[in-house]
Amino acid sequence: MTHPVGIPLVDLKAQYLGIKAEVDGAIQRTLDAASFILGPDAEAFEAEFAQFCGATHCVATANGTDATAIALKALGVGSGDEVITVAHTFIATAEGISELGATPVFVDVLPETLLMDPGHIESRITSRTKAIVPVHLYGQVADMDPILAMAEKHGLKVMEDACQAHGATYKGRRAGALGDAATFSFYPGKNLGAYGDAGAITARDAEAADWMRRFRNHGRATKYTHDFIGRNSRMDGLQAAVLRVKLAHLEAWTHRRRELAAAYRERLAPLGVPVVATAAYGEPAFHLFVVRVEGRDRILEGLKRQGIEAGVHYPVPLHLQRAYADLGMKEGSLPVTEAAARDILSLPIYPEMGNEQVERVVSELAKLI
Ligand SMILES: *Cc1c(COP(=O)(O)O)cnc(C)c1O
Repeated sequence: MTHPVGIPLVDLKAQYLGIKAEVDGAIQRTLDAASFILGPDAEAFEAEFAQFCGATHCVATANGTDATAIALKALGVGSGDEVITVAHTFIATAEGISELGATPVFVDVLPETLLMDPGHIESRITSRTKAIVPVHLYGQVADMDPILAMAEKHGLKVMEDACQAHGATYKGRRAGALGDAATFSFYPGKNLGAYGDAGAITARDAEAADWMRRFRNHGRATKYTHDFIGRNSRMDGLQAAVLRVKLAHLEAWTHRRRELAAAYRERLAPLGVPVVATAAYGEPAFHLFVVRVEGRDRILEGLKRQGIEAGVHYPVPLHLQRAYADLGMKEGSLPVTEAAARDILSLPIYPEMGNEQVERVVSELAKLI
């Protein structure tokens, strides 16, 4: 008996093989030009990515976590301020807030989509609140209209954490074009991934974008003049070159992710396995395909034994992390978030995946539930 071939959570090797000649050419071109920090590819990528999102401005950074801190700083968040966000996310969302000396104020998520519950925002607004950070988790845009309306009513800024949502839409517009600013990660496993760390900010306001562009490059006006104290968070030229190649494929890859999600949904329905809902207001980019199962850890192990690499995003909500113990939030304070953390399971989804692999994941899952 042959051992069944494994199914990874993402397959970056398969993706590379599909675009090898283009990527190798772009890397060689960068080496020949010795353009290693920012440079023409980063500039071109900023323009191309802004256009892809339907955003006015884009600033390339070293990673998504830096992007979050830089964007919030540009929007006026600083020491002692409060920023309303969710605990059901990757820790980088909150790190960007904490790095500025501000405090994340965690609100619960909606039970169907596991995205920020706009109904919980208003009661958490204080005189210190500066911004709201919805997270487009799993590649689905949060319900932006009520969030933007609440921000408008209280004079707050809105920054989208779009680090998982490249190409996701909300009422026909793409993530990154909806708030005052948005942040993206190009960590290799993201829907648009570099071959190392990289990130970007999209922004509506030209002045804010210009400030961020200088801030991420030592507050530089020219090579040896500095208008203010900045920092170093620049995108590598090699990463920009790789990202430009991949950006041209992103629409097709996103389309394929949507097909796979539809295939999963169709095959899971007869089993009665609940999936994280797709809201009617948009089309997710399906960074992850998440189901909810009782006995999650046992099922995760069972899948692993069959060579199927599922995952959990994320098992410990931020308000219960030791890193955020100072906030004093106890178990029970965010019931929807906490329930999700117990039963969510991310199934493999990546553009190179075949429908027969979806079948296999579902049939192995069926044996375990
Ligand atoms: C990946 C990610 C980030 C951070 O991005 P890095 O590039 O890894 O710093 C932030 N928020 C969310 C939701 C993410 O998934």
